[in-house]
Amino acid sequence: MKFGKTHYISEITPELQGREVVVAGWVYRKRDLGSVQFLVLRDSTGILQMVAKEGECNEETLQAAKRAGIESSLRAKGIVRQDPRAPGGVELVLKELEVVGPSEDFPIKGKEGPEFLLDHRHLYLRSRRLQAILKIRAEAIKAMHEWFYKNGFIETEAPTIIEQVVEGGATLFELNYFGKKVYLTQSSQLYLEAFITAFEKVYTIQPSFRAEKSRTWRHLTEFWHAEAEMAWADLNDMMDVVEALVKYVAEKVVERRSEELEYLKRRFEPPDGRFPRISYDEALEMAQRKGSKLSWGEDLDTPSERMISLEFETPFFVHRYPRQSRAFYHMPDPKRPEVLLCADLLAPEGKGEIVGGGQRIHDYNLLLERIKEFGLDPSRYTWYLDLRKYGTVPHSGFGLGVERTVAWIAGIRHIKDAIGFPRTPTRTIP
Ligand code: ATP
Ligand code: MG
Repeated sequence: MKFGKTHYISEITPELQGREVVVAGWVYRKRDLGSVQFLVLRDSTGILQMVAKEGECNEETLQAAKRAGIESSLRAKGIVRQDPRAPGGVELVLKELEVVGPSEDFPIKGKEGPEFLLDHRHLYLRSRRLQAILKIRAEAIKAMHEWFYKNGFIETEAPTIIEQVVEGGATLFELNYFGKKVYLTQSSQLYLEAFITAFEKVYTIQPSFRAEKSRTWRHLTEFWHAEAEMAWADLNDMMDVVEALVKYVAEKVVERRSEELEYLKRRFEPPDGRFPRISYDEALEMAQRKGSKLSWGEDLDTPSERMISLEFETPFFVHRYPRQSRAFYHMPDPKRPEVLLCADLLAPEGKGEIVGGGQRIHDYNLLLERIKEFGLDPSRYTWYLDLRKYGTVPHSGFGLGVERTVAWIAGIRHIKDAIGFPRTPTRTIP
């Protein structure tokens, strides 16, 4: 898969001193000293300094090096030379240079603001910063798949076009489906609840859609959602699973992407030990002590979550939120019906919620009652209610936001940078 190149940049080490190699990539930096041309070449694995010098290469190569603009694509043949001053301790003494795709006046020069960079996302993807973040993202997703696989979860897929409200009407995207009103899925949960009757433990990692009008650092309109559902599991089982999964993902990212974390200047230690589990009541009290005006019954808002989350060193669970603050499918606590058997996982350092989950109602009548209480149309939930009619089981599940998890691990301020092409209320291009 090298299409005429013999090495990726990461393979060019000081041990190759004196060897002839062919590399290919894009011009990352350049310095024109007339009779000496320095080019820094970037490929998917790293950067390499290359030098074309009068006397060491032919005139044609020197001219090609001079001509090659920032971000033009090149194939280069040269001799590896150790040089402690160069990145990676080696440079390439150029013999031949082929400009494959010229690039003149690359629009991103390094001082642009965030909106400009978002407008040019298709080009900004090449930045080392985004490369590092997106490699961390890919590693995190891979680690999630691994963890689920090792723990006996079957991967499933849910439809994107659906008829049911999952998380509340305020954030629904409506779609005209041959004259019928349908929605873009807010969560795959309801479908995972069907799959558990076949596979017991299931998961999916796919996009969810929310028409989030509030533009915050942690909301996208399309985000990747890692969701799992387990038969025969209660709230505590759910928290155990989330804890093990999140720890595994953090460990693997640190193990496999330390260079990228370093590039981002992120000092991140995978969390150790049990994640604290505090009740909503305790969390609310903490927030109130710090000045929050929330009163019992209201969901924790972003500022309150932030205040609480600054108090913790590792992720922590907040469980048993008030009944009115969550969606219809949550199971009320039999010991205290005004709260639900649900829990969110909040990341430390002010980041806040990265996972939401809990035990689901498995009783037919109770579920029907809650659907009506929420003003939803039961006829749209017939199949979902069926699951409670034919061999229902206690079950629990959760949804983890991929971008929020990556933003926490990589230490990014806005989750827009944790996905290649972010979707927000004002952005659907590129
Ligand atoms: P929030 O209250 O922060 O808006 P939520 O409670 O609506 O989130 P859930 O329905 O619990 O979110 O979704 C599960 C997880 O999916 C969240 O913990 C979060 O990580 C992620 N998530 C939810 N909405 C978004 C969004 N708009 N953009 C990115 N991630 C999201
Ligand atoms: Mg939530």
